[in-house]
Amino acid sequence: MVARFTLEVFAFAIVRAMELITILNQCHHHRGFVYQHARFSPDKKTIEVDVRPRRGATAVCSGCHQSAPGYDQLPERRFEFIPLWGFLVFLLYRRRRVNCRSCGVVAEELPWSDGKHQSTKAHMLFLARWARKLSWKETAESFHTSWDRVCEAVEYVVGWGLEHRTLESIRAIGVDEIQYAKGHKYLTLVYQIDRGLTRLLWVGKERTIESFQGFFTVIGDQLASQIQFVCSDMWQPYLDVIREKCSQALHILDRFHIVAKMNKALDEVRAAESRKMAQEGHEPLLRKSRWCVLKRKENLTAKQQHRLRDLLRYNLQTVRAYLLKEDFQQFWEYNSPHWAGMFLDFWCYHTMRSRIEPMKKIARTLRTHRTLLLNYFHARKEFSSGVVEGLNNKAKVTMRRSYGFRTFRILELALYHSLGKLPEPVLTHEFF
Ligand SMILES: [Zn+2]
Repeated sequence: MVARFTLEVFAFAIVRAMELITILNQCHHHRGFVYQHARFSPDKKTIEVDVRPRRGATAVCSGCHQSAPGYDQLPERRFEFIPLWGFLVFLLYRRRRVNCRSCGVVAEELPWSDGKHQSTKAHMLFLARWARKLSWKETAESFHTSWDRVCEAVEYVVGWGLEHRTLESIRAIGVDEIQYAKGHKYLTLVYQIDRGLTRLLWVGKERTIESFQGFFTVIGDQLASQIQFVCSDMWQPYLDVIREKCSQALHILDRFHIVAKMNKALDEVRAAESRKMAQEGHEPLLRKSRWCVLKRKENLTAKQQHRLRDLLRYNLQTVRAYLLKEDFQQFWEYNSPHWAGMFLDFWCYHTMRSRIEPMKKIARTLRTHRTLLLNYFHARKEFSSGVVEGLNNKAKVTMRRSYGFRTFRILELALYHSLGKLPEPVLTHEFF
């Protein structure tokens, strides 16, 4: 209470003494405009600062960005600025209209605002930066503003960034899908995965041929023809688009997805066998074995290791499937595509004779995609594998943080904002 009181008196004194104007001139100065007067609103919750044009300074046309003769003045508007010590700050200004020779009568250009939003550019950048560290809701609460205002801020900053980003020399891309909302709603995400630069390039609705093609429409044929590596999962629409649009690129199947598929098959085997054993009245050997067989051996706890050793003594389908899965890990250790190919053929041959249907299905899939799988070894030195997985995990975190507003548009904004590495509008002063 005392601290709050002191702070208020302090802020009050500063505003009184017009020190605030000096500070504003220092950090948020715009040629052709002056800060005139700062005061508290009657309820003492807001600081209002009058802005007026500098005497003799001509207005700039918002259409062509040239000086133009004045025409009239619009009613006063409030532009929200960065809050100060718990007080909201507003700049008050009566915008002029100009009579421009090329554009006619239009509103003047304002250096602190894009004209469309109620917030100043500085305020929007301030909120948007915090919205990358906190959830949008937390950002709104922390700075006494609304969720909509935070959303607008992110929209402005992302829009600016997309307009000003450079898309030259993309050598490697990865495409992946991500599920959002309940039911089967997917987004297609395209990442740049060059060694020097990894970022989200594009967000598409659904995971169809059309959605992925949208990315190539954005970058154009010229850039697409320079892509040398494409990393994807085995989703057929993606494979089709890559073949059509990036025929010159080396297409690699993402290791992470293959491991995930293998784990899924193993889990099916275990669940089915466990059910069958229970039905036939056997000892429940497989109970609580799920993580023993799914986790990598080096990640098991001591108890799970013990459990696994115990389990391996039995001639169960689950055990045999587990051993096949563990064997397959070797595949990724090869350097030469030739030897990797030999190993793959050998592994598939054995698996096809295992009489374990889910594993046989995996073997058939791997055989179908043999060439793409071996491309991994042709390209492995070129970019770090697992980078797509890493980016996708970040995308999932972003989605979790922004839960509660799962429309495509909002997710798209949130994803670009946190993963796009977009350039930001430049301010003359770093406020934070
Ligand atoms: Zn003009």
